Amino acid sequence: MGTTRQECVALDQSDGLAALRQRFMLPEGVIYLDGNSLGPMPRQVPARLRHVVENEWGEGLIRSWNDAGWIDAPRRAAARIARIVGAGADEVTVADSTSVNLFKLLVAAARLRPGRNVLLSASGDFPTDRYIADSVAEILGLRTICAGPEPDAIIAALDEHVAVLALCHVDYRTGRLNPMSRLTAAAHAAGALALWDVSHSAGVIDIGLDAADVDFAVGCGYKYLNGGPGAPAFGYVARRHHQLVRQPLTGWLGHAQPFAFANDYVPAAGIDRLQCGTPPIMSLLALEAALEAFDGVDLTALRRKSQALGDLFIRLIDDELGPCGFGLASPRDSDVRGSQVSLAHPRAYAVMQALIARGIIGDFRAPDILRFGIAPMYVRFADMFDATAAIAGIMAAGEWNQSRFLSPKAVT
Ligand SMILES: *Cc1c(COP(=O)(O)O)cnc(C)c1O
Repeated sequence: MGTTRQECVALDQSDGLAALRQRFMLPEGVIYLDGNSLGPMPRQVPARLRHVVENEWGEGLIRSWNDAGWIDAPRRAAARIARIVGAGADEVTVADSTSVNLFKLLVAAARLRPGRNVLLSASGDFPTDRYIADSVAEILGLRTICAGPEPDAIIAALDEHVAVLALCHVDYRTGRLNPMSRLTAAAHAAGALALWDVSHSAGVIDIGLDAADVDFAVGCGYKYLNGGPGAPAFGYVARRHHQLVRQPLTGWLGHAQPFAFANDYVPAAGIDRLQCGTPPIMSLLALEAALEAFDGVDLTALRRKSQALGDLFIRLIDDELGPCGFGLASPRDSDVRGSQVSLAHPRAYAVMQALIARGIIGDFRAPDILRFGIAPMYVRFADMFDATAAIAGIMAAGEWNQSRFLSPKAVT
């Protein structure tokens, strides 16, 4: 006898985090399982942006850099993210995109290990991470090597040639979670530095960058941090590297005294040297407001709920979707699974389109993955039941097999 909807509703009723859902504007009739691509809008964002547009930009004009505190906005947003990722407020900054921060920090990290000529990463990493690493290697005269993706295979590839081990915390396709502390320690034992991309774990996992002794990290503002489309990203540099770290994009806002307009570049003390140019103030202030959704939220409790939701979803899938040709593409063990559940199916794209047409929004990743992001701040246990039932319904009726679901759109 499988799990009933009533049992799922009971889990929601006894869920101590259920009220957090009220902090988001979620459209009626939608089950949102794509917070790993674009988080929903936290409630305080529209009013904040209205104020920014009408008052701070509209009335305050250039005065708002000082009077409305725009110039300190990267620091304020960074302090909020620092708590979420287990770092000191002085170790995080908000700027640019994840890809750009990756470029800055890969170059910076490699420069701290002169004489070593390998950037080591894992196969299956997010494409932008690979592309950027290849470009950094070309510019600096290094080589990229891809190992893994299993942790033991990555550790076996660490040797005295590796300058930087650069890894994604969560595999964006399968949701497999890399052991951050263990791999960081292995990198250090080999004399290398560790850089982590926490785009798919920031906001859903109690990451603990300081506790894991990570050297550098980057992450995304618009996924589980809910900062809005194209929100600025963040970068982390462990305090012990602040004196020596040199990033390559030496724009004026990373200067020790931007408004001295000096002829020569002198990096700002500490994390501020990661800044480059003028921040996108509206996106940045939307992110800052969005991060208030995390006020008072215990990341350990969030992680526990996310694990419970994923375990329930997998149990329901086992019960209901057995004969439909789905394979579980994510680890069963929630300790090595991020906050997503992925299914493999030869008709993944069309099935996901049919699901989205029913208001159950996940996404598709080539070649055959249906991906469901499980954000514990607003996803309910009953949503897991309803999503599974909808997939079963779509398969039973052959509902996916319509021309409108079969040809890929520009953005998947
Ligand atoms: C989403 C994501 C990115 C996004 O990079 P942008 O430059 O912000 O577009 C980078 N890396 C990983 C691992 C991601 O999941």
